[in-house]
Amino acid sequence: MRSTRKDRDKKREITQPRGQPGMARYIFVTGGVVSSLGKGLASAALGSLLQARGYTVRLRKLDPYLNVDPGTMSPFEHGEVFVTDDGAETDLDLGHYERFTGVAARKTDSVSSGRIYSNVLERERRGDYLGKTIQVIPHVTNEIKDFIAIGDDEVDFMLCEIGGTVGDIEGLPFFEAIRQFAQDRPRGECVFMHLTLLPYLAASGELKTKPTQHSVKELRSIGIAPDVLVCRTEVELPEKERAKIALFCNVRPDAVIPAMDLKSIYEAPLAYHKVGLDKAVLDAFGIRPAPRPNLEKWEEVADRVYNPDGEVRIAIVGKYTQLEDAYKSIAEALTHGGIANRVKVRAEWLDAEIFETEDPAPYLENFNGILVPGGFGERGTEGKINAARFARERKVPYLGICLGMQMAVIEAARNLADIKDAGSEEFDHEAEGETPRFKHIIYHMKQWVQDNQTVQRSADDDKGGTMRLGAYDATLTPGSQVADIYGTTSISERHRHRYEVDIAYRQKIEETGLRFSGLSPDGRLPEIVEIPGQWFVGVQFHPELKSKPFEPHPLFASFIGAALEQSRLV
Ligand code: GLN
Repeated sequence: MRSTRKDRDKKREITQPRGQPGMARYIFVTGGVVSSLGKGLASAALGSLLQARGYTVRLRKLDPYLNVDPGTMSPFEHGEVFVTDDGAETDLDLGHYERFTGVAARKTDSVSSGRIYSNVLERERRGDYLGKTIQVIPHVTNEIKDFIAIGDDEVDFMLCEIGGTVGDIEGLPFFEAIRQFAQDRPRGECVFMHLTLLPYLAASGELKTKPTQHSVKELRSIGIAPDVLVCRTEVELPEKERAKIALFCNVRPDAVIPAMDLKSIYEAPLAYHKVGLDKAVLDAFGIRPAPRPNLEKWEEVADRVYNPDGEVRIAIVGKYTQLEDAYKSIAEALTHGGIANRVKVRAEWLDAEIFETEDPAPYLENFNGILVPGGFGERGTEGKINAARFARERKVPYLGICLGMQMAVIEAARNLADIKDAGSEEFDHEAEGETPRFKHIIYHMKQWVQDNQTVQRSADDDKGGTMRLGAYDATLTPGSQVADIYGTTSISERHRHRYEVDIAYRQKIEETGLRFSGLSPDGRLPEIVEIPGQWFVGVQFHPELKSKPFEPHPLFASFIGAALEQSRLV
């Protein structure tokens, strides 16, 4: 039987006023003044600090936009789509949550207004509301509250971050729902944390508190009084200003938490702890004395990030090079690979299209490793194929992820196995109706097995619905490089793709050197390719999604290790 929170607290010998047993306490995180203040990071760091004090946590994101899910949103606009084990396409903030807490996110940890409204409208059509007039309050807010409470009995603390800033029109139902939620619960079981900005006026040398005051006023006008204020600032927060914010915003002075810029996000748990964030939050819940934190894990991570022995340069040859957030998890996983080897990883984004017309050598020669990430569509793919060729021929460590693996297979097929017109069905699909230009060694899979069930897809399913999404098992060849890297022959990794390498070409391609060293358990889907004798690995899944600073993904740790060796050769 699952232990209730009461049992767990008893175990820790904490005595404090309680609500009902088995219920989580809630921390609602909102933002004001401007967007991009680092709410996601603050939430994630707070989650890790609560864990360091022995509590269990889950983090959740409520996004006000009207898209039903971020799966089809442009990575240019929205950053990367983060995929969970259970196959949800979610906001990239869930990646932060996982990287800081190690708690695997689920489908039920991310929701948008679009999804909420779509659920409400579906119910209305089904007649669930018995002909009542459907309104934002209570129907939409009830739907939000039900979502917030999912898995309520599983953890000590549930952290819910509301996207956007207070006052946004789309966000209003969420703010109203969390206000009601706190009222529905026993007193003291919900805490509101609000992030704001303290602009610094260099001319007068002053930190301005007015925008924060206005933001809190706005929040209070909709019935939410913040317990903790996290104030982003470029300079130290003087005591006088802290007292002023506390007075005007009606929070305790030690609950006004200054948050200064950090050189590495992985210092955030330590930095927030130093300025008393976790203590202020526990204090707001009336948890006194708070259990002592164990921060060793984060001290080790920070030490490795801030005191590296050397540096490696990695080229990321991709398409969405304008916005770093489009490959957020890859950038972070590379950093983790650096942490594993105690080196700094300098990643540079190169536009794959350059290599369609130009020789990649002058661009790629100075790098210690080449990474070709996932992507969609034909644009830039010939450049990626050329980058894979350069890596193979020059024996530069190569990590191909998803599309990056597919391109490595096409490269080997064309240049080693003599299948000159090798290509992916994806590229012909875009030019529908015309005679196919390629031999489809990468093809559109319409049927596969998940959890012992056959999944069928037709080409015209909803855009978001046609992909192999979420965690799938793979079996690795004993004695292969990847089996050695993973230290096991059975793994589970997250997927997000439509096309698969055709197993029918296995023998022909393997004869020339590129080995299929990881397959789906039924042996039908190639999951990993590698070239023996050099560090050249392509994976159909996304290992970056599961990497953590305190537990770097083995592939990234090994890739950076190989890059480090390469750097010593040149
Ligand atoms: N476009 C490719 C596919 O759908 C690769 C996807 C990816 O890299 N995530 O199979």
